[in-house]
Parts: sequence; structure tokens; C-alpha cells
Amino acid sequence: MSKVAFHTLGCKLNFSETSTIGQQFLKHGFSIVDEKEKADVFVINTCTVTDNADRECRQIVRRALRNNPNSFIVVTGCYAQLRPDEIAKIDGVDAVLGSNEKFNLFSYLENFEKKELSCIYPPRRIYVSPIENLDSFNPSYSTDADNRTRAFFKIQDGCDYKCSFCTIPLARGKSRSASPEEVISEFKQLLKAGYKEIILTGVNVGDYSSSLNRNLALNLDHDQDYNLYKLLKMMLEVEGDYRIRISSIEPNLLTDEILDLTANDERMCNHFHIPLQSGSREILKLMQRRYRIEDYQNLIYKAVNRIADLGIGVDVIVGFPGETEENFLETYNFLKDLPISYLHVFTYSERPETKAIEMANSVDPVERKHRSNMLRILGAKKKHEFYQKMVGKELSVLFEHENHNGLMKGFSSNYVRVKHSFDHELINKFVKVKIKEVDENICTTENISINESINIQAG
Ligand code: SF4
Repeated sequence: MSKVAFHTLGCKLNFSETSTIGQQFLKHGFSIVDEKEKADVFVINTCTVTDNADRECRQIVRRALRNNPNSFIVVTGCYAQLRPDEIAKIDGVDAVLGSNEKFNLFSYLENFEKKELSCIYPPRRIYVSPIENLDSFNPSYSTDADNRTRAFFKIQDGCDYKCSFCTIPLARGKSRSASPEEVISEFKQLLKAGYKEIILTGVNVGDYSSSLNRNLALNLDHDQDYNLYKLLKMMLEVEGDYRIRISSIEPNLLTDEILDLTANDERMCNHFHIPLQSGSREILKLMQRRYRIEDYQNLIYKAVNRIADLGIGVDVIVGFPGETEENFLETYNFLKDLPISYLHVFTYSERPETKAIEMANSVDPVERKHRSNMLRILGAKKKHEFYQKMVGKELSVLFEHENHNGLMKGFSSNYVRVKHSFDHELINKFVKVKIKEVDENICTTENISINESINIQAG
């Protein structure tokens, strides 16, 4: 039996798509092995957000060929879509597939014979469609990442926004979504497979179904105005013991309806990840984001006032061109005062073909690092404060399979990491725990009572 191994870079979306690529190999009689094992085919699913995508890709190729010099190396993903020629020049790469092509890999690569190609230099096969042709939607979800507890379920792809720092729309194309029927059917399958937490992922999840008509071309009697709220309502009609988490949502797309739904249905996680990117009015404008600082602030207060113990994560970029010390401090102070629970801090780095790369007043890399450190410290403080607020409260935790030296870990609905002494009975169950204290980056529990299990009637 031929073997295939994978290396995935970047976000959860990429991981879920690697799983889907893996399914194609399984269907063709391959077995999937760990990347440290000898594999006949080695697939690298790249990311464009990675700082040194090119160098990183080279290193991975070299490592794969060290394991098996005859491995057929396929590079795909966002970086492959953006820079196919650059990748094709990397020594050892046999084929480059774009964002569309990776889902039909076997129709492009009917054989994986490395030797046949070695006489041509560079011997690469490049299959990358132009970005304007990226309009199909390929549903994906990651499986077995943590033994069937949480599944990352892709419901949307691409983005129509024009944030000046971002290359994702160039690599993934226009916004498009799975049809509600597809979502519900896959959702039921995931529940049937035993997943308890379904994390809705996409490039711009809140924009779900903006172009639904394209996907529903064959089913035109459907409501064309389908949006994320309606989809969530439909998903919640499915009975079962589960909860739904939205991986990330743009602030302008987090509607009152979604807030109310989250407040009123405990199967919706009381947790949102809402990118801010900058707390400076001026920089936000240069970034071409679609909201103002005051809109963001109002949204956060409205959300925490409406939803009990809401956890809020925030993405922020430091060192954007033109960001003065004063602009940075505006961001710092804005975040310091907001009732949020953690930060994801990104240091700005120049990306080809973006508007931002042309902008004046680039920030010195040392200063970028310094600002990034300041925000990371603030983020750690915010998280600790939020965890501390949970002490004495009862949270519903989904415990995972792994045994960490006699301890098991899980996430609460509001995204608090919790540990408890290992008990096989608690695995993959929603368990009400009382938080005892905060032990560094994790909460400890007092007592435990297993929620009544509801039979899954999915499918
Ligand atoms: S919303 Fe902005 S940052 Fe996010 S993917 Fe779209 S263009 Fe990029």
C-alpha cells in the first residue's frame, strides 16, 4: 500500500483542508502516515501569513527527502496559489497545486513517479488556476485532531474585504459558502462520528452565504438571503449533545441576532473571537477595516452585557506602516480598558501585492518587536484576570482524551482552559465544574457532576 504524509502550515482552515486532501488519498488506496515516516508522497499545505513561507517550505522539503529521497513532493495551499513559480524552483518539489486544484489532486496527478521527471529541470508540474476562477466551495473538516472531541468545520471560504495588509483574498479568492443543506448534512455526520464541539471556520465566517446564489444555482427556490444567524438557527434545530463555537467573526458582522441567540441557547458557546487589528482611528483607516473604534467598543460592551461570562478574544497587529508611538499607545490603552479575555498579537510584516507594502513610514523591526512584547504581556494579564473572575463559578467543560501525567484538560464554553484529575468516565462529555483557582495558565476544579447525556438524534 502506498503511503502519504502531510505537513500543514497556518490556520485551522488549512488543517481541515489537509484532512479533506487526505480523504482523496484514502479513496485511492493510500495509507496516511506520520511525516517522520517514509512516505511515497509528501504533501505540504502552505500558508501565506507565515513570515518566511519560502524558507520554511524549503526546510520541510529537505526534511521529507531526507526521510525518503524518492518521496514525490506536492506543494499546495495559499502560498502555492500566490507564488507557484517561486515554489517550483525549490529543489525537490515535484508538483505545485493551487487553491482549487488541491481538492481534485488525482485528476491532475495521475502518477507519482519522481524518477520520470528528474530528467527535466526544473521538473515541476504546476497546476494553479487564476484567482478569478476560484469560485467553487469545498467543504472540509478536520478529524481526529484531538480524538473526536472538537471538529473544525469549514463553512465558508475566501473574502471580499480589502484590508490593506492582507493577501488572503489573493490566495483564496472571493467569499463563498457551503449551502445550508451541505452544512446540516455534514454537521449531522460530525455529531454521529462523536464530535461534541463543532467549530465553524472559514476565512470570513460572519460573511457566510454572501454569495449563496452561486452555490445554490441548482436549487433556486431557496432563500437567497441566507446568513450566519439563519444557518445557526437551522443547526440548533438538530437535536443532540453538542455545542457550536464560531472560530472568529468580524465586528461588523456580529449582529444583535447572533448575540441574542448566544445569550439564549447554551449550545452556542459564550465565546467570540473578534479581530480588532488596531485601536487607533488613524491606523484602522489605513488598514481599510470596516468599522470605527467606537463601533468596536460598543459591540464589546453590548455583548458582555447581554451574555453571561462571555469570553472575548481579540486579534491585533502591531507595527503597521505609519503606526507612531502615540498610535500604538492608543491601541494599548483601548485594549487595556476593554472587558476582553485574551489577545492574539501579530507583528506586522510586509506582504507583496498588498497596499500596505507601498505605505510610507514603515516601523523599525526592533520597535515592532518591542510593541508586540508589550501587547503580549497585556494579553497574558487580561487572560489571568478573566480566569480569576471564573473562580467560584460553575462552567461546562468538554474534557479531552489525553492523559497528561494523571490530569485531563478541556475547554469551557467561554474558552477557559480547565484541568482535572484524569477520569476515563469524563472524556468527551460536558461536565459542570466549579472553578477552584487559577494555576498559571489553567484553572483547577472543585467538584464534578456529569451532565445528563442527551441521545444524539442526528442523521
Ligand atoms: S477580513 Fe480582511 S484580514 Fe480578514 S481575510 Fe478578509 S481581507 Fe483578510
